[in-house]
Amino acid sequence: MSKKGKLLIFSAPSGAGKTSIVKRILSKYPNIGFSISATSRNTIREGEQNGKDYYFLTLDEFKKKIKNEEFVEWEEVYDKAFYGTLKSELERIWTEGRHVIFDIDVKGGLNIKKQYGDRALAIFVQPPSVQTLEERLKKRGSENDKSLQERINKAESEMKYASHFDVVIENDNLDHAVQEAEKYINEFLN
Ligand code: 5GP
Repeated sequence: MSKKGKLLIFSAPSGAGKTSIVKRILSKYPNIGFSISATSRNTIREGEQNGKDYYFLTLDEFKKKIKNEEFVEWEEVYDKAFYGTLKSELERIWTEGRHVIFDIDVKGGLNIKKQYGDRALAIFVQPPSVQTLEERLKKRGSENDKSLQERINKAESEMKYASHFDVVIENDNLDHAVQEAEKYINEFLN
């Protein structure tokens, strides 16, 4: 189904809870596969696995793949932390006969939407407020002061892009957000 596989893009500021939504969707839809991004982020969080959550690469490995044009899109999301979607990843999932779901930042999400048009559904996950984001990021405990500030600054600018997406889901409550996401996905896939 390489030609028929669709793309479901979930974008949001860091800490908006999109990863939790995407995980719940994946557990409910066996016909959807997760696009495992490549990253040069040098910390692996508790519970993260190489080859499952991300392909963790060194900066050099990542740059080599950029040079070889192996990415559909890539970005230096944070200082020295590159993230990108590999062409081989989309082919892998489509060849399995599944649709692809992305957990990706706002710029990357819009980039993919631009390339795939009606074949893609771009969903923006809106956190209730920047303050809530900050609280969630602090609670997650994954950031130091500098990277926390970096993520909050980026979130503030990303919030402005909601209207560029096909649909916006507010994540004030996970169950509710998942229900809404399912409704849009069912409409789009059927
Ligand atoms: P984190 O370090 O929190 O896992 O990810 C940081 C940001 O990079 C998040 O907003 C995440 O969605 C985004 N991201 C993850 N994979 C990709 C990708 O393949 N491309 C782009 N552009 N952003 C990504």
